[in-house]
Amino acid sequence: MTRKHDRGNPMVRAEHVVKRFGSNVVLKDISLTVNHGEVMCLIGPSGSGKSTFLRCINHLESIDGGRLWVEDELVGYRQRGDKLYELSPAEVSKQRQDIGMVFQRFNLFPHMTVVENIIEAPTRVKGQKKAAATARAMELLDRVGLANKAKAYPGHLSGGQQQRVAIARALAMDPKLMLFDEPTSALDPELVGDVLEVMKQLAESGMTMVVVTHEMGFARDVGDHLVFMDQGVVVEEGDPREVLTNPQRERTRSFLSRVL
Ligand code: ADP
Ligand code: MG
Repeated sequence: MTRKHDRGNPMVRAEHVVKRFGSNVVLKDISLTVNHGEVMCLIGPSGSGKSTFLRCINHLESIDGGRLWVEDELVGYRQRGDKLYELSPAEVSKQRQDIGMVFQRFNLFPHMTVVENIIEAPTRVKGQKKAAATARAMELLDRVGLANKAKAYPGHLSGGQQQRVAIARALAMDPKLMLFDEPTSALDPELVGDVLEVMKQLAESGMTMVVVTHEMGFARDVGDHLVFMDQGVVVEEGDPREVLTNPQRERTRSFLSRVL
């Protein structure tokens, strides 16, 4: 597709990433690359480490081995010669500003209106003026089809609408990378389509995205790259149409036969 740019220039690079919780090695040896403008879909059984991997990219967990980069910056560390130095909280916060994340549960602030939810981080973290942030929030709400809900409270919106607000809220920080962790799994089936449509438009606009999902139709139609994870390892990856129609590994076949 023509929207692709900077091909071959990684946005996210994981090399031999290891993550443990106590004696439980959740990510065993993950090496992956997500290029600029690419949509990577991450699938796999529950407990395989998908959320943990996203959380490592976004500094919600720290890794125990390997290396993780977003563009040319190590996540959480600075390298000098052979030595790694942990970033300060302020530096970590700076790195995180460029990464948007949307969770399964919409976790909007319930006591704030939709527009207040969206302008909260840009005004507080980035020091944007309220008027400018509000104008931008209205543009984003229009983009996700919810311009008429600006003054509503989250509790008065459907799950699908709340999730679209959550996407607009993440976009308000002008992220260079968007992470989605099963964004439609908690939604009633009839609300899933609108959220996937917003994500598809975002992909077409050139946003780099990592999407953990069970929506195989989305993975096939929108994904550029599909990764199947199981028990903390990448079992199989490649072109989504290839992997979904012609999986090479038995574990992939058995997983797909259960979800397709
Ligand atoms: P997935 O998203 O693929 O379902 P997760 O990344 O959520 O998998 O979890 C992978 C494994 O890590 C599971 O065994 C889970 O119990 C464990 N795990 C995840 N988060 C924590 C945590 N904060 N503390 C301890 N164990 C955790
Ligand atoms: Mg998960």
